[in-house]
This record gives sequence, structure tokens and C-alpha cells, in this order.
Amino acid sequence: MYKNTTNFEGVRQTNRGKVLTLIHESPGIDRTEIAASVGITNAAITNIVSELIRSRLVEEGAPSVVSLNRGRKRVGLWINKDGGYVLGVTVLATHASVTLTDLLGAVIDEVSFYPKLPADPFSTLDEIAHHAAKICKLHKVTQSRLLGVGFAIAGFLNETSQSLQSAPYLGWPKFDLRDELWLRFKCPLVIENVTRCIAIAETRIGSFIGAKNLVLVRAALGVGGAIISDGELLTGNRYLAGDLGHLLAERDGVLCSCGKRGCLNTVASGWSIIHKLGMGDSAYENIKQFRSHDKLLRDIINDCNDEDSQTAALVRNAGALLGTHLVNVLQVLDSEFCVLTGPLGRNRIYVESFRNQLIEVGYLGKVVCSEDTNVLSPAAASVGLALSNLVFSASLNVDALMAESLNHSMEARC
Ligand SMILES: [Zn+2]
Repeated sequence: MYKNTTNFEGVRQTNRGKVLTLIHESPGIDRTEIAASVGITNAAITNIVSELIRSRLVEEGAPSVVSLNRGRKRVGLWINKDGGYVLGVTVLATHASVTLTDLLGAVIDEVSFYPKLPADPFSTLDEIAHHAAKICKLHKVTQSRLLGVGFAIAGFLNETSQSLQSAPYLGWPKFDLRDELWLRFKCPLVIENVTRCIAIAETRIGSFIGAKNLVLVRAALGVGGAIISDGELLTGNRYLAGDLGHLLAERDGVLCSCGKRGCLNTVASGWSIIHKLGMGDSAYENIKQFRSHDKLLRDIINDCNDEDSQTAALVRNAGALLGTHLVNVLQVLDSEFCVLTGPLGRNRIYVESFRNQLIEVGYLGKVVCSEDTNVLSPAAASVGLALSNLVFSASLNVDALMAESLNHSMEARC
């Protein structure tokens, strides 16, 4: 998040971001501890903290236990949770959501809905903006204190996340998504593919904070993936890195939704299970079919209790094949964690089979599934993306917030 820079303003912004992040990660930390951690003088830290307090992002309070144990009277610093707000937005093939949270990520309001015209991006974005404006108004969140929007989409973006390149499940065309969002929100934005968004948020605010090498696999109707390598999202040459569902698993196999044959999606995904049960095929047609298959998969998973049934055997086989084909990826990346999520990632039979297969072939990292830890939902991850990239980051415009606070207090005095 923090890029080295020689520009004075850039250094100032970077240090503010570091201090704010430290206060977020260590509530009650004092100025001396921050100075030691950031590696700049006490005077500089005092100055930055004063700016953060004037901008209403930080407040003083009791020091943390660590400080008290030193037996010296110090002032603790805490994030002022009401100093700003973020919106998390998701657009998935199954539904869309808008979530408003405070600076600590506590949900203030959340709306989940089925877009009226899901294949029409502009109508869907209008609906999202309408819901966002409504909940911001209801909770008296002003434009100046809306610090950012995190947008997670079931689609792929270009290298700079400016425009949507493909969203086959939604049926959305290529267009400048950032531009369209800016027209509707007029505040800082961060846009990411939903699976990547979960991987980023997990390593910044979730159960895997600080994890440097992690592969996240979402096993649902299709298999999706995202890779964190050396602490950063691996993007690849065409910004498609981590798209695990289309790894070749079986030469001349079943036709996949991408037009090729034998992709991992055709042997290890929810679609492959539905196909083998004779209830549909793995070629994608439209969002209506996606939703009916999604419901079908969830029903299959819920009814899959009899371990000796044909369905259980298919689920078990799919989990094992995911492990078989993923192990090479995990070993090449030397990944510390493999996190399995999605509806199939919460199914005991699929998970056990996947985990056993990885252990059998000698994977040395940790396999973590949704039943071991609560992997962030897409909605929570979209909020996490906004907080980590737009608030606890060098990109936050603290000067504007200080000016706004000053105006606010002057108006209050008049
Ligand atoms: Zn494919």
C-alpha cells in the first residue's frame, strides 16, 4: 500500500497513512510507540497525530494495556469510528448489495436486492446509487464524510481497474466502470473482481492479516481464484492471474463455458456435479440459468448428507480433483495458505476430500476452509477493500477533512 517516494507531499501522505493504520491496528497506542514503529521523530508524530485529531479521524482516550504496564501516564489514541464512513458495493450474478459502515467496519445499514434489469449495467448502477443515497441520507452521512466506495464485481477489469473487460455471468459489456461510478458517487473509488477483493480484504482486515502468500479458491457453480504473492495481489500479464477455473484438467473433456474443453470447471465445480447428475451442462447461457443452477447446487449440497449416495460420491470426486489440479499451483507459488470458500467450500464432504487430496500429495502449507474460519462475505470484503485502500492508506485526503472540520466548527460557533 505504501510506495516509497521522494516527494515531500508524498512522504507526508504516506506517514499519515502509516500512523492512521497503526492506530487502527493497535487501538490505544500512544505517540511514543507510534514514533518507534514508524521510525520518524516524536515531533513529527505529534504533528501528524494533531492533524488526524483535527480531521476528526482520531480521538484521544485511555492508553492501551501495554502502555499502562509501563507505569507512566500516557495518552492513548483511538480511531473515531464516526469520523467517516465507507460504502461497500457488490454486483454478483445472484444479487447486488450496498453496505454502509463506520471507520471500524461496523455495519450501519445494508441493502441486498435483485436488480430489475441485471444484464443492463447502467440501470443496475442507477439502482445501486439510489440505495446508497437513501441509506446515507437516512443515517445523515454527508458527502464530505463518505471517504470511499469499495466495489466488488463478478467480472474482470483491465490492468488499471478503470474499465470492465468481461463479466460473462452478468452479461455486461466492456465499459468504463470507474467513470460510471464516479458520475454516481463523486468520491474515491476502488474496484476489484469479487474473489480478488475477498483475498485482499482477508490479508488486510480479515483472518489472514499480514499473510504474504495465499491462494484463495472459491468453489461454487464455477471455480474462481485469487493469489496474494509477497503480500500483493498477483495480477499477471492480462490482469487475469488466479483464474483457476480454466486450468486444463482433462484433455478433450467436457465443453466449458469459456469454449474450451476439459477445464477444471468441468470436473471440480458445482456445474460439473450438476452435469454429472444429468441436471444441466457446464456451458453458461444467461443469468436466469445461472440463478436456477445456483439454487439447484445449494439444494444438492443441503441434501447431500448420505455419504453413500451417488451425489455424495460426485461431490467427493469433485473435491479430490480440485486438490489434484491445484497442488501444482500451490507448490509453484510456495503458498503458505490455501483458503477454500464458496458454497462447496462449506460442504463437509467436498472439503474433506479436497484437504485429504492435498495432504496425500504432500502440500506443506495450511489448508483453511470456511468451516475452520469465517471467510469474509463479498459484502464484508467490499467494505474491507474500501477501508484498506481508501481510508487506512496514503490516498486519504486528510487536508480536505481538516478543512471541513474547521468549517464545521466555525459554523457551529456562528
Ligand atoms: Zn474453461
